[in-house]
Amino acid sequence: MHLVTLIPGDGIGPEITQSVVDIFAAAQVPVQWDTHNAGETALAESGSLLPQGLYDSLERTKVGLKGPVTTPIGKGFKSVNITLRQKYDLYQNVRPAQTTPGIKTRFEGIDLVLFRENTEGLYAGLEMYDERLGIADSISRITVEGCRKICRAAFAYASKHGRKHVTMAHKGNILKNAGKLMLDAAKAAAAEFPEVTFYDDRIIDNMCMQLVGKPEQFDVIVTTNLFGDILSDLCAGLVGGLGVVSGANIGDDMAIFEAVHGSAPDIAGQGKANPTALLRSALMMLEHLGEKEHAARIEKALNETFLQKEQCTGDLGGKASTKEFTQFIIDKL
Ligand code: NAD
Repeated sequence: MHLVTLIPGDGIGPEITQSVVDIFAAAQVPVQWDTHNAGETALAESGSLLPQGLYDSLERTKVGLKGPVTTPIGKGFKSVNITLRQKYDLYQNVRPAQTTPGIKTRFEGIDLVLFRENTEGLYAGLEMYDERLGIADSISRITVEGCRKICRAAFAYASKHGRKHVTMAHKGNILKNAGKLMLDAAKAAAAEFPEVTFYDDRIIDNMCMQLVGKPEQFDVIVTTNLFGDILSDLCAGLVGGLGVVSGANIGDDMAIFEAVHGSAPDIAGQGKANPTALLRSALMMLEHLGEKEHAARIEKALNETFLQKEQCTGDLGGKASTKEFTQFIIDKL
């Protein structure tokens, strides 16, 4: 039995989390949940966006499944997601994007995995504002070690999963120092994993153009934090949107799997939310825990459900509620 910290989150978070809990129970997955809130719900309950009990649980279980959380804007709170990523050095943000039969997209045959550096760059929180001069500085700092770790992680993943091609995206033509750190790190990782036979790099703007023109040419992509933030949503858009893609924040010692969309306050509590993104993230978590067979069985039931449009939620063109969609998956199990 694996003990997992469950963070239901805000807005639609509790609805989609319940869906995953129900599907795992029906599939008899050997996971036991240790539930703790974060975000606005936790703030109202305990006066803290990230209560100590949540940290204690994560440090015990080393694995979390997280629904979307709302960080109050303009009140001086640091993002819950960024705080967790930095505190536990979850330096890999892993975002698979695949076309799935039944989910309408403009392209066919996309099957890629994006590795975004998750703790450095523009998101390190190095910001200054000089009101007198009217100047704001947001410093993008990356390190040799940070580049080494994320590039190595991308190649190690490619090697482990039989993927042959890694592309590194950068802006080395303008940001020469930062570009060189990433290029050196990617070349070193390519030399360490010769079974990944094809390594290349692209300037980020060209990468965007090629992704929306011929996305099926990409396999594993690795890049820095800001570029990865943008590319990962772009890739989500290619395969059906944020409601259907999974995400993971992985460190050497801990991993937190999460729905990458937000808390969707416009539909919260209405039973309309699509739980697919969180469910697919939970399936990544099962693979991480070594429960591949359980993951494959649930994935099969999910993919069969996509083929019957009327069984899908409204965002996928269907009419089913969150609970009905969940039940259709359970029926197929
Ligand atoms: P959002 O992703 O919550 O919503 C954008 C649109 O997509 C909305 O119309 C929403 O209804 C729809 N949508 C999102 N997820 C859906 C799902 N599972 N099923 C069906 N429709 C879905 O983005 P936003 O409105 O910009 O952000 C709302 C809040 O979420 C903000 O407070 C933001 O800080 C937070 N947020 C959290 C995370 C996270 O915790 N990982 C990520 C992004 C935003």
